[in-house]
Amino acid sequence: MHSNEDICGLNLLTIKSTMNPDTTTVTDKKVKIAVAKGDGIGPEIMDATLKILEAAGASIQPEYIEIGENVYLSGNTSGIQEEAWNIIDEAKVILKAPITTPQGKGYKSLNVTLRKSLALFSNVRPVNALHPYVQTNFPKMDVVIIRENEEDLYAGIEHQQTQEVVQCLKLITRPGSEKIVRYAFEYAQAYGRKKVTCMVKDNIMKLTDGLFHQVFKEISAEYPDIISESQIIDIGSARLAANPENYDVIVTSNLYGDVISDIAAEIAGSVGMAGSANVGLNVAMFEAIHGSAPDISGKNIANPSGLLNGAVMMLSHIGQTEVADKIKNAWLTTIEEGYHTADIFQEGQSVKKVSTSEFAEEVIARLGQKPKQLKESKLASGAGTINIPSYERKVVDKKLVGVDVFIDWSGSNPDEIGNNLHAVNSAKMKLKMITNRGVKVFPNGLKETYCTDHWRCRFVSSEAIIQTGKPHYPTVEYDHVLTLLTDLSNAGFDVIKTENLYEFGGKRGFSLGQGE
Ligand code: NAD
Repeated sequence: MHSNEDICGLNLLTIKSTMNPDTTTVTDKKVKIAVAKGDGIGPEIMDATLKILEAAGASIQPEYIEIGENVYLSGNTSGIQEEAWNIIDEAKVILKAPITTPQGKGYKSLNVTLRKSLALFSNVRPVNALHPYVQTNFPKMDVVIIRENEEDLYAGIEHQQTQEVVQCLKLITRPGSEKIVRYAFEYAQAYGRKKVTCMVKDNIMKLTDGLFHQVFKEISAEYPDIISESQIIDIGSARLAANPENYDVIVTSNLYGDVISDIAAEIAGSVGMAGSANVGLNVAMFEAIHGSAPDISGKNIANPSGLLNGAVMMLSHIGQTEVADKIKNAWLTTIEEGYHTADIFQEGQSVKKVSTSEFAEEVIARLGQKPKQLKESKLASGAGTINIPSYERKVVDKKLVGVDVFIDWSGSNPDEIGNNLHAVNSAKMKLKMITNRGVKVFPNGLKETYCTDHWRCRFVSSEAIIQTGKPHYPTVEYDHVLTLLTDLSNAGFDVIKTENLYEFGGKRGFSLGQGE
């Protein structure tokens, strides 16, 4: 899979360069799409979706790939076969039904594998109310959640460090944050949206969420016509749940985005209805937001709308916006006229309870019609393009000023480990403080603070001046760190890991301990 970090013009929803090269001539040549029928209700809703696409005149050529439960159970823990990668590589566009991940036995999440392997950095989930046809308390809700898809706690780097403590690494990068925040503003601009809200928790995670927020501030300044605002994720998600109509586009990191996109879909009443796009610079994948629903599998009662909406986003992506509008408007008309699958059927509101295949027939019968109450889809009449410039790495000074040494120690008295560490006579470095779970416990800790067996011991240059209001940390050579580690090991300390302390461009690149 080649990578393209150049300027990418996104067509309506997504990036032009991710399109199969054939898509420039969509009218005369069919576009290859890698199609995964998935597990559970997957094959039923995929058949219904493809039938509608075909009837609407979508110019696509499905290339079927096998992924999911059968592949897992055949002993392949990644859930995807080699041939599937080749087809994806050629097609660059995937339409995927939900799959079942078997429980236990170390099976890896195929969704996470696909997102990361194919660098699908942006998860785009439009969620809007279909009031009064689908039950919701928020009839005017119309939100797009743009979630970073590759980083954060989902990098999947976890370790058990001591008997009592496990750790998960939260990775937020500048290139990743720039790409997703830029995508959100470009999306808002292309789709005529008015406001982008950033959700972070940088009052606590000052470096990681702080970087995401900083990038948001920098990039928002380039879009003066779009209102930008930032909210702390806890109050932000509470407000989203209480007043979703106040939001337009939301951009956030992976974990927060995972949570709030489900909240949004749930309160819109559309968990079975919403589609989503996973967009990269080279490949894009489209799907429903729900899972494989094994409880209703094989009964021909599942709602195919989520996958169909994913497919509409896909058609927009490959430039077939007129067909996308035709399908979306027929679908809206079907919903409006009360032909509903069991999951959204409401006595008094719905006209007929239909099966999966009947629903597809009803949509097909309305191709060419437009909704009377719900907002008509007008993708073809013009969204702009989305540009993601290549990342430019700036040169910044980097200075090593110390090291945090993590020690596994089963004692409970911080003064004991602190005084023992002080006694280690390492010529060039001295102990500054010790924290336990981030709280300073030495020197001068509080006796109430609960301590585990995981001690973070901060060492700086023995020449550091740390008693004044403005501490000064002289440069430390890495050799000094190595000598310190040898000295600690010789003194019998169980060193489990280290984190170097750097200043970047003269700014502290590490957090202080609580109470430091
Ligand atoms: P689920 O979304 O499959 O089902 C939750 C509930 O919603 C069930 O009651 C189900 O019947 C209902 N439902 C879901 N889609 C529906 C539809 N289209 N029409 C009508 N009702 C629908 O979530 P789950 O039960 O937690 O997960 C089942 C399996 O799906 C698990 O193996 C999980 O790992 C997998 N999963 C896959 C994806 C994906 O492939 N993108 C996403 C989520 C879950």
